[in-house]
Amino acid sequence: MTDSFTPNTRGDSTPNTESNTAITAPHRGETIPVTFIPSEKGKIHIKEQKGVFQRLRTSINSLLIIAFFVIPFIQYQGRQAILMDLESQQFIFFSTTLWPQDFTLMAWVFIIAAFLLFLVTLFWGRVWCGYLCPQTSWSFMFIWVEKQIEGNSNKRHALDRAPWSLNKLLKRSSKHFLWGVIALLTGCGFIAYFVPATTLYSEILTLSASFWITAWVWFFALCTYLNAGWMREQMCLHCCPYSRFQSAMFDSNTLTVTYHAKRGESRGPRKRKQATQLGDCVDCNLCVDVCPTGIDIRNGLQYECINCGACVDACNKTMEKFGYQPSLISYTSENELNNITAKRLTSYKFIGYSLAVLIMLGVFAFDVYRKADIQLNVIRDRQSLYREVGDNRIENSYTLKIRNKTQQDKRYLIYIDGERGHFINKAIDVEVRINAGEQLSYPVTVYQQRQTTAANNLHKVAIQFKVMNLANPADSVSQQTQFFTLR
Ligand code: SF4
Ligand code: SF4
Repeated sequence: MTDSFTPNTRGDSTPNTESNTAITAPHRGETIPVTFIPSEKGKIHIKEQKGVFQRLRTSINSLLIIAFFVIPFIQYQGRQAILMDLESQQFIFFSTTLWPQDFTLMAWVFIIAAFLLFLVTLFWGRVWCGYLCPQTSWSFMFIWVEKQIEGNSNKRHALDRAPWSLNKLLKRSSKHFLWGVIALLTGCGFIAYFVPATTLYSEILTLSASFWITAWVWFFALCTYLNAGWMREQMCLHCCPYSRFQSAMFDSNTLTVTYHAKRGESRGPRKRKQATQLGDCVDCNLCVDVCPTGIDIRNGLQYECINCGACVDACNKTMEKFGYQPSLISYTSENELNNITAKRLTSYKFIGYSLAVLIMLGVFAFDVYRKADIQLNVIRDRQSLYREVGDNRIENSYTLKIRNKTQQDKRYLIYIDGERGHFINKAIDVEVRINAGEQLSYPVTVYQQRQTTAANNLHKVAIQFKVMNLANPADSVSQQTQFFTLR
């Protein structure tokens, strides 16, 4: 760090366009010339930054990436603990197995997650984007690889501008090769949530995976390579819908990365320890150089800001070097900026979102409690409503589709519940065994003795089939249907 600061620029055509020509120190009316160094069009090479928030972001991102790859290898009761098995249409989550019929439970999980995100956004702005979003995590991982091969941001800019040479070719091909490897691993990692991980990796390694599995792995690898390697902040700026409606969740208590303009202006370069009438912003432009979306936070809150805190760390370093108080840029709410005490826990939005989340959690818990491990579908014979057979009997036929929704083989009792005395079931009180996750189609014919043959009026009577787990009688399910007869 030199003693005097000259405003610099990343040297590209990023949204911070004013940096590429000249910076006008707004309250001084002084125009500071800036050298414009052309780079690859639209390319952002962020300056590396250390600090509390960058350490926090890197740690969280690393943990999430590790978890992403490791989770599919966790086993529970001899099976993959978390697996969305498309082939058998089951979502396995440890001891719970969800079937397409349990779709509402999955829907609740996503709706609750969305409202929790709203709640977090209300408190801390777009921390999801800055610290948890896979797009951010993978982009930073790709940037890290780029830095290892091509050097720091200045060297990367220089390499962009340099004519093609063997050195450039080697560096670029190594970078893209490593990006490709990470992207391919990510494709495998993602598909491992849908196809058992051990099978998937062994099939991929032995080149024996099916066409569709291979195609999906390559598809997600390509998406990763393009998103994290090439698109990066463009995804956040132009494709992500969340950035567009996030402001609807904000209120004046929301913590967002904010430049304290009253303290910082008038901005301007100076020497260290130099007495000056200027504000605390020394116009070093570091906050712009480290910004992954290429914005200047000094222009106020912008939808491009992902709340990553890189500019907070960068500015704090500058403040420290100049002997100024830290937090010229900080996580601050609009109320705190105006010296109004923030009321985060009593705002209408917080109460509203919290109530919505609590109610949904209650409904979800109730649904989980009611969820049966047996599924029963009673299907009436479509050929005829009833049949008249000998001995004045009326007969109805059904097919019971019984699914064992657990991961263990079970024995069940099938019977007619309630007023079973009216019916004679050819297959009453039958015990059946159904293997884990399998469905049994069980035909049942029920008949009733006709009391009189004088009239031929069609009547329907309710009949209830019940299936009970013999090992746990509380685990039972029933379904009512109709029995058609003549009277
Ligand atoms: S302005 Fe600051 S917090 Fe926002 S994206 Fe840029 S570096 Fe991150
Ligand atoms: S806000 Fe801080 S980091 Fe940004 S230009 Fe001013 S002093 Fe430098």
